Amino acid sequence: MDTLSSIDAVRGWRGASEVGFVPTMGALHEGHASLIRRSVTDNPRTLVSIFVNPAQFAPGEDLAKYPRTIQQDLQLCADCGADAVFTPDKQMMYPPGFATWVDVEGLTDRLCGATRPGHFRGVTTVVAKLFHITGATRAYFGQKDAQQVIVLRRMVDDLNLPIELITCPIIREPDGLAMSSRNRYLSALERERATGISKALRAVETLFQKGTREVSILRASLVTGLSNHVDKLDYAEVLDAGNLSDIQRVDRPSLAAVAAFIGSTRLIDNVVLAP
Ligand code: AMP
Repeated sequence: MDTLSSIDAVRGWRGASEVGFVPTMGALHEGHASLIRRSVTDNPRTLVSIFVNPAQFAPGEDLAKYPRTIQQDLQLCADCGADAVFTPDKQMMYPPGFATWVDVEGLTDRLCGATRPGHFRGVTTVVAKLFHITGATRAYFGQKDAQQVIVLRRMVDDLNLPIELITCPIIREPDGLAMSSRNRYLSALERERATGISKALRAVETLFQKGTREVSILRASLVTGLSNHVDKLDYAEVLDAGNLSDIQRVDRPSLAAVAAFIGSTRLIDNVVLAP
């Protein structure tokens, strides 16, 4: 496996063939591994990027303490069959004088966009840059970050980017907790309480499967289910899964989505309700 630490090295490496691309912020776990393995299956070559993107963290968020585990990450990439890992630094991605941003409007006002101002502008900008640098033909993202996938699909369509986006399912711990690099912030007690998030989502899924379609009832169940476990609810919503618009009834694929704090750790999770 090659380690590419400059933009020219990536451009030289990519050549003409199809490339599957998995952008990450490192501190890799089985969720990331699932994306890498899927790309390795689908593509002749797979490139992973590891970059903790400062532009998607608001002041006061966890940029400084975000876990950095590069040696283990490189090992995981190699074990999953990745052909190269791109490890840019901040200077390379945001050189002095950097002034150009990609901003998807509307979709980024909801959910995480409402409480993390500027977050998606940072995501879309860095992902657009990485798509250009890597020249990848397919890119793999997790359903864990459901809004991110919706926003990135809009960006790819709107800017006619020649890349196919593939969404991969959420990988969970045996007790249901969605895997996340941020789970390692949790104390043992918090880790236990964090399972309340996936449990509340599962309860909503069960209600839905038993026939409940009213969003007000599904949402109320979600909020009640979460209330005993989380310290602060950021949002708990049931929305149209295609465009994140408000709905009254689940009469189309819908997204039950949660962001909540366990202690000072903000966790997100979701389930798709498909009639
Ligand atoms: P991150 O390193 O958190 O920026 O995540 C990089 C990619 O991995 C994103 O597309 C995430 O949606 C995806 N990802 C993170 N956690 C999971 C998970 N538990 N299951 C599936 N994909 C995930």
